[in-house]
Amino acid sequence: MGVIKLKHLVKVYNAYKGANGVTAIDGLNLHVGKGEFTGIMGPSGSGKTTLLNLLSGVDKATSGEIVIDGQDITKLSKDQMALFRRGRIGYIFQDFNLLDSLTLKENIALPLILDKRDPQEIEAKLAPLMEFLGIQDVRDKYPYHISGGQKQRVAAARAIVNEPAVVLADEPTGNLDSKSAHQLMSILASLNENMGSTILMVTHDPFAASFCKRILFIKDGKAELEIRSSGDRKAF
Ligand code: ADP
Ligand code: ADP
Repeated sequence: MGVIKLKHLVKVYNAYKGANGVTAIDGLNLHVGKGEFTGIMGPSGSGKTTLLNLLSGVDKATSGEIVIDGQDITKLSKDQMALFRRGRIGYIFQDFNLLDSLTLKENIALPLILDKRDPQEIEAKLAPLMEFLGIQDVRDKYPYHISGGQKQRVAAARAIVNEPAVVLADEPTGNLDSKSAHQLMSILASLNENMGSTILMVTHDPFAASFCKRILFIKDGKAELEIRSSGDRKAF
């Protein structure tokens, strides 16, 4: 669970308007093994967010294949994709994507509620996660009442509450102070090490990138360079 293969993936925006459109992903091939912690880096506009949107099924590829655990998700309908994603893919969106009409606790619990888990089990999973992320005190507030950093932690909690096989994260430390960034990266690292979750993280942050065992640099929607870590990360 958690193996990702991209085969000549292409995404062109606005191609239907007759013009040439914007080629955001340009024939990308990539193989991410189960349990890999991979970083995606590259300049603004290089296609990083587009790639995560395609992998999560938020957006549709123009051509090519996205095979996750043997299933080519480009062949799935919207409803089939929603089912496939549930419990398997967690996405920490750059703009959080929290539902304004739900409390923070309800936002985090959403994947479990959709999965029809019983309330006791939901509470048992949520309490330690919220405690660890330092959001217990704001659990009954609504998204517009909390700071950007708190929203980021709620978005992270929601993405990982189900212990998904694949976690996609778009600049997860982008709005966090260094203490919160540390906490969040520890959670992702622990999910990766203990649950074997495959993580694909877009980041500009060297601290976050230092957790990756492999970093893919993309430019103009193409793979440009890849480095692998020897694992001797040193924290100061
Ligand atoms: P990054 O995340 O690396 O900054 P994006 O994936 O956001 O890159 O964007 C890649 C390219 O696709 C950019 O040229 C951007 O302007 C374009 N793009 C992104 N989203 C859309 C969209 N919804 N419609 C049209 N063009 C888009
Ligand atoms: P990023 O920080 O990933 O570069 P952007 O600021 O490029 O994000 O994009 C923010 C949002 O605007 C995204 O949802 C993206 O899909 C959309 N977007 C980006 N470029 C365009 C574009 N040229 N036309 C329409 N939507 C776009």
